[in-house]
Amino acid sequence: MDIVIEKFGGSSVGTVEKINRVANRVIRTVEDGYRVVVVLSAMQGETNRLIQLAHQVSPEPSTRELDVVMSTGEQVTIGLLCMALEREGYSARSYTGLQVPIQTSTMHGKARVEHIDRDKILSNLESGTIVVVAGFQGVNTNGDITTLGRGGSDTTAVALAAALSASVCRIYTDVDGVLTADPRIVPDARVLSRITAEEMLELSSSGAKVLQIRAVEFAYKYGVPIHVLSSFRDVSGTLITSEENRMEQPKITGVAYNVNEAKLTIKNVPDRPGIASKVFGPIADAQINVDMIIQNVGSDNNTDLTFTVDRTEFQNSLRILRDIVPQIGAQDIVGADDIAKISLVGVGMRSHSGVATTMFRVLAEEGINIQMISTSEIKISVIVEEKYVELGVRALHNAFGLSEEHESIEESGPQSLFRS
Ligand code: ADP
Ligand code: ASP
Ligand code: MG
Repeated sequence: MDIVIEKFGGSSVGTVEKINRVANRVIRTVEDGYRVVVVLSAMQGETNRLIQLAHQVSPEPSTRELDVVMSTGEQVTIGLLCMALEREGYSARSYTGLQVPIQTSTMHGKARVEHIDRDKILSNLESGTIVVVAGFQGVNTNGDITTLGRGGSDTTAVALAAALSASVCRIYTDVDGVLTADPRIVPDARVLSRITAEEMLELSSSGAKVLQIRAVEFAYKYGVPIHVLSSFRDVSGTLITSEENRMEQPKITGVAYNVNEAKLTIKNVPDRPGIASKVFGPIADAQINVDMIIQNVGSDNNTDLTFTVDRTEFQNSLRILRDIVPQIGAQDIVGADDIAKISLVGVGMRSHSGVATTMFRVLAEEGINIQMISTSEIKISVIVEEKYVELGVRALHNAFGLSEEHESIEESGPQSLFRS
């Protein structure tokens, strides 16, 4: 019998009625002949509420205790779902991350899954019991509860799928699948029937929160098939595939945005070997992820070094850099957190030129100034003022015709992003 993982996000378990609906969905899969492991998020808004509660008690709660508090939301939903399944006559058992156990790294708030003990889950499945696991949490080598970062239930689901060699990991959410853009700001965004794991990685890392980036990384690494589906409507959803069919690729697959970044600029950095490591070493030691970096040597051999970090790390980064600036002989550190990143993603970029040119023209026509640019083989990102993010995303979605079905393009060799 095949194992299927079914993960339901916060909006899918936000009320008792919705939990009953999830129970029916799970029962359908059991009746289809699968052994089912369910992964649940906390009820919508609950994790935010718990974080606020912690901050009411302490402005800077210890990360260990914050994880103890934050992880409780999922414990409620798994228990409720098991009750609903049992009420319908099905055997079901809930497990927190600590009970499975899901072993993680030690880092509270952004722990990584390292090992999953399969024994309890498999023996339950063998005896016909539905297993319901709390998403977003695990336990570290000290025996302490950890959490996996916001949106981490996706990662729990994919990690379980990998550990149990599940035939598919179904991610049920409040939209019809992965769309060409966030439907909250682009109402005519279109559902993609398939997307490559590589594109999904870029979309997730660019802010499309439909899947947590680490979940996609896991799926990519272990070859876990992911199917993103709606909790509320019977639609075919989006399959995340490993292969790409280049003949059918459009120029662009999707547009993503991220309003959770902040920008820091160190002014007049001396142009000497070792400076970048003196700046980024302490930032990395503080577990702060740096996204874009721009450095350009001016004619006077001094240079401005600009980079972006997660907005929650903005003040911490400023604090660290204020100590470093005098040490390296730079002039000053300035920052801004009213920025947004807009990204275009698509494997079609590899074989289709002119994407960057069109992007810059469209933004210029809307009067949107570009502060930073970065590119990868299948992505172009720009930093703009936050107030322009919706306008920019909509204009780009429209300019690349993303609401329409894919236009086919001829396969051709790799071309520069900047040729039109
Ligand atoms: P869940 O609670 O099910 O985990 P999330 O809120 O984490 O759901 O993710 C789903 C949301 O992701 C959608 O409601 C949508 O607003 C947002 N989103 C952003 N970009 C995309 C995209 N490209 N496709 C689908 N949803 C997207
Ligand atoms: N409840 C957690 C969060 O809100 C995890 C998740 O929903 O995936 O981030
Ligand atoms: Mg989510």
